[in-house]
This record gives sequence, C-alpha cells and structure tokens, in this order.
Amino acid sequence: MIKEKYSDHLYSGEMLAILEISGTPACILDVHHQTVTLNSGLSSELMIDEAELHLSNWLSLFRIHDRGEIYRVIHQLAEWDEAELTVTIPIADVNKTFSCKLLHLSNGDIAVIFSSLFNQTKIPSQKSYQYTKKNPLPSCTVLNLTETFKTQAKTTRTSKVKERLVEAADNFPYGLAMLNSNWEVIYANSVMENMVDLPLSKYYRKKLWDLFSVDDYNNFFQHCLRAMETQETVEFQGTLHKKGIMMDLTIVPSEQGITIIAKDITWYMDQFERLRKSENRFSIITNHIKEACWVCSPETGELVFLSDSFTQIYGVDKEIILNDPPRLFDLIDKEYLDQVKEAALIMTQKEHQVEFTITTPDGESKWIRMKGFPAEDDGKQYVVGIDEEITKIKEMTLLEEKSRQLSTITQMAAGVAHEIKNPLTAIKGFLQIGAVNPDLRDSYHDIILDEVNRIESIVQDFMMLSKPKSSVQLEYVNLDAIISYVSRLLDPDTSNKEVMIHYTCDSKLNGFYCEPKRLKQILINLVSNAMDALDEDGEVQIEAVLQNDELIISVIDNGHGLSEQELTKLGEPFYTTKEKGTGLGIMVTKKMIDDLDGRLNYQSSKNEGTCVTVRLPFRT
Ligand code: ADP
Ligand code: MG
Repeated sequence: MIKEKYSDHLYSGEMLAILEISGTPACILDVHHQTVTLNSGLSSELMIDEAELHLSNWLSLFRIHDRGEIYRVIHQLAEWDEAELTVTIPIADVNKTFSCKLLHLSNGDIAVIFSSLFNQTKIPSQKSYQYTKKNPLPSCTVLNLTETFKTQAKTTRTSKVKERLVEAADNFPYGLAMLNSNWEVIYANSVMENMVDLPLSKYYRKKLWDLFSVDDYNNFFQHCLRAMETQETVEFQGTLHKKGIMMDLTIVPSEQGITIIAKDITWYMDQFERLRKSENRFSIITNHIKEACWVCSPETGELVFLSDSFTQIYGVDKEIILNDPPRLFDLIDKEYLDQVKEAALIMTQKEHQVEFTITTPDGESKWIRMKGFPAEDDGKQYVVGIDEEITKIKEMTLLEEKSRQLSTITQMAAGVAHEIKNPLTAIKGFLQIGAVNPDLRDSYHDIILDEVNRIESIVQDFMMLSKPKSSVQLEYVNLDAIISYVSRLLDPDTSNKEVMIHYTCDSKLNGFYCEPKRLKQILINLVSNAMDALDEDGEVQIEAVLQNDELIISVIDNGHGLSEQELTKLGEPFYTTKEKGTGLGIMVTKKMIDDLDGRLNYQSSKNEGTCVTVRLPFRT
C-alpha cells in the first residue's frame, strides 16, 4: 500500500507553520546540527521562552527513562518514517504526560508533535504506528494525518469522518486507487494491488503509463482521459491485468485527479458464460423436440421459459404468450377451461396431466395433452411442463372406439335378431297350431307368455345399454333401503329353493350420493345371478364396506362357481349357461357401473362359489 510521506509534501518550516496555525505543540529536530526548533504551542506548553534549544537541553526536559527512549528512536528513525512514544515532562513540579509523535522529514529533520494525554486530542494512533520492523510501512495515509494536524486542537467531527473514510478505503472490498491530476499514483488499497498484481508501493508517484503500457491498455487510458476531461464518472468493463481478470471499472474524476474503483467480475463472467452455454444446450434440446416445453412461476403467474415448438402447436407466436401468459386461455376451448385451470393448480403440488382442445387463430381445432410438475430452483417454486399435440392420437382412439362399437353393434344386432327370432318362431308356431286347433289354444297360452317375457327382457336389457352416461341423476340414497328392496323383489320364497340372503353393512356407512335406479338394477342382476348359481340350499351374502372414499359392495355365493375359461367369457353379449338366460345381464351391469364411475370384479372357483365386487365412489 502506498503511503504519501510528509517529506513529499512538507518541509521543516512549512510543517512547523502548519502546526503553529493549528495550535499543535511541536518541534523540529535537526539531528545533524543538534538543534531543536519549537513552535509557540510547545514553548508555552513547556513554559520555555526560547524558540530554539540545543538537542541535549531539549532532551534534558524529559524524564531520564524517556530521554533514552527518545534518543534511541531519533537514531533509528532514519530507517522509518514515523514513531510514537508516550513521554512525561516535569513542568512546574507537575509531571505532564504527552503522546509524542515523531515523523521523519525528507531533509533528514525530525518533526516531533505533542499531544497531551489528559485532553485526549491525540494524533490518531493506530497499532501500525508502532515502531516495529515487521510493518515498515505505516498503514495510515497522509490524508488523515495532515487533516488531524489541522484540526487536532478542536477534534472536530470532520476529522473523525475523514479518519473513518481512510480506514474504509483501506478495507474497501473493491480495488481503489487514486491518481493526481499529473497521472501519478498517490494511493491504492491492498485489494487493488492484488487485482493488478503490482506492488504499487514501489510505483508511488509514478505515472500511470509506467505501470500499464498505453498500447496494451489503450481502452483504459481513453476512459481515464474522458473522465478527466469531462469531469463525469465513467463506467466500463475491462482488464488491468495480464492474466485477464475482468473488472467492472468506475472512474470518478475530481479536480485533484481521478479515483479508480475496480470490481473483479471474472467469476460472474465465467458463471454467465457457463449459464449461457448451458442455456444454449437446453434451447437446442427444447427447440428441436416437437413438444412445447415451458417453465412458469405460480407465484407471479409469469412464464419464465417457453420453447419454440409452442408457436407451431398453438399457432401463436410464443413471444405474445411470454409477454401476456393469460392470453393462452383465449385459445383453449371454453368447455375445457375450468379443467385446465384446475389441473394447473394441481401441477403446483404434484405431477399431473390434462387433455383439452384448442382452436388456433386459423380456426384449426387441436387436441393438446399438458403435463406438468412442481420444481424448486434457488428457493423459488416453479412448474415445469410439456404440451404435446395429440390430435392424431385422439382421432385414432376415437376411430378405434367407434370401430369397436360398430363391431359390437353388428355382433349384438345379429345376436338380438337370433335371440328374438327363437321365441318369435315358437310364438308363431303355437299361434298357428292354435288357429287350426282352437281347443289346444289354452294349453299353449303359458308358453307363449313365457316367450313374450323373454323377448321383453332382452329388449329391456338393450334399452339399459343404450342409456347414455349423461342420464345419470345422483340422489341421496340409503344403501339399507336399496338392499331391502332388492331382497324383497328377489324373495327366495317365490322360487322353490331354500335360499338365505344375508346382509352386513359398515357401521360408518350413512347415506351417500348415487343413482338409485342403476344401483338397484346392478344389485338385482348380481344377486339374481348368485341365486341362479346356487343349489337347493345355498347362501348369498351381501357385504358393504367403506374403504378410502370407496364403497365396496360384495355379492358372495357358495354356488357352482366358474372355471377360468368361463370367467373370461363373462360380459360377452349373449353368453349364458342358463336355459332362460339372456346372456346380457353382466354386460348391462358393467355398463351401469361404468356410468357411476365404478369398477366391477369377479373372483370365482369352480364348485366353490363366486365373489363379485362392485367399487363405487363414495360421494357425500
Ligand atoms: P344370464 O344371467 O342371462 O345368463 P348374465 O350375463 O347375467 O346372463 O350371466 C352370464 C353367465 O355368467 C351366466 O349364464 C352364468 O353362467 C355365469 N354367471 C354369472 N354370475 C354367476 C355366478 N354368481 N356364479 C356362477 N356363474 C355365474
Ligand atoms: Mg343374469
């Protein structure tokens, strides 16, 4: 660190004059001529009339112990610039203690400045003033010393502020250097020295171009010149070091010269470059996949990132949406808007996806699948997601669904025709016989009625199948009431079997929302199948339990059961093993359970029994 020395500024006479004005007691020792010149402040302090003393006389004023110390310092001071001592001088029988500062002047003289320790107007004493070889350069700058000399007697607030300013400059986290108007370096803090990798103490009062060649640092010189000429602060980025440390440089001009503030930004530049490269790689990936990638901040509703593919998918320039994200909602078809908004909310908590349709500004209709999940970066919450156009996939599945439906319809139409044709043929035959033989008519009556009933139940089942899901009308229902209705309807007494129906129900189970018509029909179909499977004395058990928001109804029988092969056939239209069966019951049951957002499951072992479980959402 460079310290401006008194020797460069002041000579003995001037120094004494300054001290005189400030009222600071001081004297100049001319070691060579063995004389001591006192200023009036010191003369009056010591109560001496003479303005000049012989060195030995001057020394004799001090206590013996102090004399030796002063003598030693004076003779060693040639190696150093400054030293500080505490001395005691007996004045009119009173021992007065002074803090005594010795400064080496360039002409070889020594200035001794006194300050009484009783009125604490001391020369700023810092630990580095100590007379020690380890710290040859004192850390205090001329700025605060001269300032202190001027104001010492008063110890004004300004001097304290300046002291603090100098200390702050020494401890400033950025590089700080000062040049006078002759382009000479007069100050630099240690951060600046490290940054430019030059021991500036050696370059004190050297011109700036002795440190940095004008050719190599032309840009820097241009900026300094501009600051000096325009007297305006100049900021720029550059380097003042061969290794190429990037700096943010600020040049603050004043009439006395310029102050250079340098901030090492190499690390930031490196990070910036690394970030730019990684972002580049990220962009290459995201912009070359057909899905649109996005990152948004749920807190601010701001879209942080949107990949190029967005423009292709949505038919709107991504910049428009980046600037005003809610405009995305204008593209989404109204019937899906609430669903998308709800899905976006879920995405802030967990991975989620939503499918919806949009209409592009060109009027094109598209299916979009949006997937998103929450992510955290640097303590901030984000949602990261991908939008994919699934119009083709949707069309395909729709087509598949349709063709499946179509084949089922054809298959079923053929089945229905066949199933209805049989009883019709029978009815027609008996009617014909009856027409010819009126006496026999009555005996065929029951058979004809049976066949008509059969046709009726087939038609009824078909009507159930064709009911759309949208016709579901939820009502508050009580399972107990429904079960008792079903068991009354299927009263075992009406059949010739000794069948027992048991019913157990979860105690937590109260009323819930469901469609009673469908629920009744489901139970009728399942319980009647169970009863059909029983021998003379079987049992049907109905159980209802509540589990994780699901109502599980099981219909268990100990009837003849089903083989694995038979199990695979369940639900196929017209698959029946019964003489009077339609083979449509399970299919209709399955359709109605689907309508109620439930699931159906069969478990069975041949000759042991069957357990059918229906899981329904428990809506309260
Ligand atoms: P259907 O009752 O008119 O025969 P379903 O579709 O209701 O038509 O049943 C199809 C077939 O599945 C029945 O004919 C029967 O063979 C078998 N099945 C259904 N439920 C059971 C059961 N609980 N135990 C044994 N077999 C069953
Ligand atoms: Mg049945």
